[in-house]
Amino acid sequence: MIDPMQAAEWVAAGRAVVDLMRSASALLPRGRDRDAIARRLDEADRALELSNARLARDLGYPLCRCVFPPKPMLFDNARGGFVCREPGCGRVEGG
Ligand SMILES: [Zn+2]
Repeated sequence: MIDPMQAAEWVAAGRAVVDLMRSASALLPRGRDRDAIARRLDEADRALELSNARLARDLGYPLCRCVFPPKPMLFDNARGGFVCREPGCGRVEGG
């Protein structure tokens, strides 16, 4: 069993690397290589989102299925429940 806190750090580190690579790839001339890199970065992004969702589920957060990979819903005191932060969704659940 993976320690969820350690997994959270790995996901955050992976996200930082993907963001860094994305900024770096913007400096490349347009062309096949740049497109290929952009595609791989999108795949990495998706894999990160997926591990993020799995991690959130393991930590007991509800997941909103408005998108895939699903988004973790965060507790909002004012609304008294877990809220999806995805633009255009805003679903509230439980509490
Ligand atoms: Zn949602």
